[in-house]
Amino acid sequence: MARIPMIAGNWKMNTTVDEAVRLVKTMLPELDKVKGVDKVVCPPFVSLKAVGDVIKGSSVKLGAQNVFYKEKGAFTGEISPGMLAGLCEYVIIGHSERRQYFGDSEEIIDLKIKAAIESMLKPIFCVGESLEENEAGRTEEVLTRQIMASCEKLYFFGGIVIAYEPVWAIGTGKSATSEQANKTIGFIRALVRHRHGKEIADSVRILYGGSVTAANIAELMKMPEIDGALVGGASLKTDEFVSIARQASEVRGVS
Ligand code: PEP
Repeated sequence: MARIPMIAGNWKMNTTVDEAVRLVKTMLPELDKVKGVDKVVCPPFVSLKAVGDVIKGSSVKLGAQNVFYKEKGAFTGEISPGMLAGLCEYVIIGHSERRQYFGDSEEIIDLKIKAAIESMLKPIFCVGESLEENEAGRTEEVLTRQIMASCEKLYFFGGIVIAYEPVWAIGTGKSATSEQANKTIGFIRALVRHRHGKEIADSVRILYGGSVTAANIAELMKMPEIDGALVGGASLKTDEFVSIARQASEVRGVS
């Protein structure tokens, strides 16, 4: 069965609640018309409810940008999977900014993925190498470590989506070429196949992330291993994000 592509927008720490509502309202009419692609917006926690109310009944889905792995207790400032369940469908876990600035280790990321799935949230699990690792030819070694640390079989039945995001391409305007991204995502799929077999590897969606724009999405989507994109900066611009979703649908939409 063909994998349904996904275009997910990571709004990061941008937009007040009012701005988030305004942004999603401007996108929604056109985004809703895009067929054959899963479209997801991931606003900050405080806007999840308001954005969720706007998109209710549409084809656009909602994701959070992070989650903690404990269900409740003395963890000031954290948000539990149970608090997100019912509010959104997806949750980004292991984004490189979380790994880099907030100490999300592979062990913590694994705990978060497991806790999210137990609460019926679908993780968008981010992996990727740094510039130094890339230049040292260590990309495959790093991805193997990251994937092996967090890819239990149960996660696939829980609907995990993997996002390959080379750290050197995030927010830099320097995207990986479509051939590079395709090759590396093929490597990740092979890791999944090695660990869990062909059926799971053939069905898991693996996105590319890193300076995706309306100008490069079509080339990326032509690549057979790339199942969509996790989009940062460009997801805050209505015309750009709608165009990304529309082009993904034209190139690879599943009817
Ligand atoms: C991201 O934050 O996941 C991302 C890919 O950002 P950008 O598209 O801005 O590079």
